[in-house]
Amino acid sequence: MEQSEEVGEEYLFKIVIIGDSAVGKSNLLSRFARNEFDSNSKATIGVEFQTQVLEIDGKEVKAQIWDTAGQERFRAVTSAYYRGAVGALIVYDISRRSTFDSVKRWLDELTTHCDSTLARMLVGNKCDLENIREVSIEEGKSLAEEEGLFFMETSALDSTNVQTAFEIVIREIYTNISRKVL
Ligand code: GDP
Ligand code: MG
Repeated sequence: MEQSEEVGEEYLFKIVIIGDSAVGKSNLLSRFARNEFDSNSKATIGVEFQTQVLEIDGKEVKAQIWDTAGQERFRAVTSAYYRGAVGALIVYDISRRSTFDSVKRWLDELTTHCDSTLARMLVGNKCDLENIREVSIEEGKSLAEEEGLFFMETSALDSTNVQTAFEIVIREIYTNISRKVL
């Protein structure tokens, strides 16, 4: 797939999910695509991408959402993973500061591998873990503002904002593309 394809009235967007190991990337995707949560984290193995269909402006929009499938554990997310992506969710875990500190490194990856028009959303996941929070919502917001990203705190466990986070990215891509087409 080259960038985003417009097939008649249909659209196909590639979106990647990145972030440190165990921040909840695979569970965000399984929550969004299948409304499932996996406390054993087995979802990471094997699943390459999931396709979700949305209707925007009466048009069929297919979001092909890619999961790292554990590659990030070896700090070896390949350029093939990023190729053709038009959107990205950069995920950290609000209960683990080190994962928030890594966000800049993940943003650098996007700069290296992706187009600058990429729609980017910073996601502070595991907001259900309020009692062991290490990163405040304000810190997330201000980093997002600095870097020009959308921002949302989510919980793949209790479903908070998961649908919304993906939909904002998908709608932003759609808006960018339809502007270009017009
Ligand atoms: P990945 O390595 O980034 O793909 O992370 P996983 O989706 O495999 O999740 C890592 C661990 O965090 C698993 O044990 C999940 O059950 C747990 N987890 C994922 N999302 C959430 C969440 O929103 N809240 C809580 N409390 N745990 C989560
Ligand atoms: Mg995973």
